[in-house]
Amino acid sequence: MPSNAEAPPAPTPLRVPVADSHTHLDMQSGTVEEALAKAASVGVTTVVQVGCDLAGSRWAADTAAAHDAVHATVALHPNEAPRIVHGDPDGWSRQGARVPGGDAALDEALDGIDRLAALPQVKGVGETGLDFFRTGPEGMAAQERSFRAHIEIAKRHGKALVIHDRDAHADVLRILKEEGAPERTVFHCYSGDAAMAEVCARAGYYMSFAGNMTFKNAQPLRDALAAAPLELVLVETDAPFLTPMPYRGRPNAPYLVPVTVRAMAAVRDLDEDALATAISANTARAFDY
Ligand SMILES: [Zn+2]
Ligand SMILES: [Zn+2]
Repeated sequence: MPSNAEAPPAPTPLRVPVADSHTHLDMQSGTVEEALAKAASVGVTTVVQVGCDLAGSRWAADTAAAHDAVHATVALHPNEAPRIVHGDPDGWSRQGARVPGGDAALDEALDGIDRLAALPQVKGVGETGLDFFRTGPEGMAAQERSFRAHIEIAKRHGKALVIHDRDAHADVLRILKEEGAPERTVFHCYSGDAAMAEVCARAGYYMSFAGNMTFKNAQPLRDALAAAPLELVLVETDAPFLTPMPYRGRPNAPYLVPVTVRAMAAVRDLDEDALATAISANTARAFDY
């Protein structure tokens, strides 16, 4: 294993515990128990496990049922919906949707998400939204249909909506407005600028900041964080992705949340305990746990 793939050291524990509002434990090495214990040892006592396809969403619901520290969200990822409709030429979908299934297959998968969304340990519907970075124009119709269906499911079950928005800010905001956003909507891995943060603030959307806010070129993200109302700010890892500086390129996991919380506290010129207290309350309010 190359040295740059080694797990970063555990940071100094937070004095005030927080939640990792968005993680993918099923894509990380080690067991769930190990990940939760390591996270809890540095003050990350709660995680939101996010499903990206039907199998992953079932796993998230099962894992949340088995662990008090885990809450689940369920969805077909914006890059998954077109694969179900059109097939998956690269074959890397865990669901193995290599054969085009058309709209009927998407509807069937959405039915499965709908059933999971009714479970009490499932606190949100997502990650859903739009991704114009990985999905080309041919996948946009499927992506949009799936996004609109997820918004409806979230509202009907009274669950939070978790948004994945990559290079699609205007369209995501437009569709949310057209459909009517659920009472609680979270922009995961918030990637807009300060002007968009003001739009989100007016709509009451939560903004969850990930490790990429520590990257050198991420000044617009830090400006957005500075502009966001404190009561709408969350933190997440999106692990195993987006490992914060100075560990960029090494595997991410929930126990690294304190690194990002400290970088966020510096941006807001806030005491780390005060920021952690706010984040903790915000996450519980956003996901209603
Ligand atoms: Zn995402
Ligand atoms: Zn994610």
